[in-house]
Amino acid sequence: MAADPDCLFCKIVAGAIPSTRVYEDERTIAFMDINPGTRGHLLVIPREHAKDLLEIDPEDLAACARTAQVMARKAKDALQADGINLINSCGPKAWQTVFHFHIHVIPRYDGDPLRL
Ligand code: 5GP
Ligand code: ZN
Repeated sequence: MAADPDCLFCKIVAGAIPSTRVYEDERTIAFMDINPGTRGHLLVIPREHAKDLLEIDPEDLAACARTAQVMARKAKDALQADGINLINSCGPKAWQTVFHFHIHVIPRYDGDPLRL
């Protein structure tokens, strides 16, 4: 699907809005969340616009899952995370606020105050 000119994450893909990228490949990008729940909280997105889990191309979904695993391993190795939450919200009722598919990779630490 073509980039959506009104989509915040399409603008991040295009570099029109700055972000701190930590990983990228042919299909996906990972960048730091602007409002992290814990240290190292990042988002994995497909380069191609898709609004949510129901719309994303299955190959892009698989690519996002692979990137999320790479990022989860990095959180373990580089940040010594004690655990990791992967979260996808699909639709406003499920708390989705940015309508370009994304997976949250949230490192968890013993005693961190985050409640999901
Ligand atoms: P959602 O609520 O849709 O599951 O997650 C959207 C996420 O995008 C939130 O965690 C929010 O902090 C993050 N976010 C919103 N705007 C920006 C932005 O401009 N840059 C970055 N890096 N993250 C953003
Ligand atoms: Zn988009």
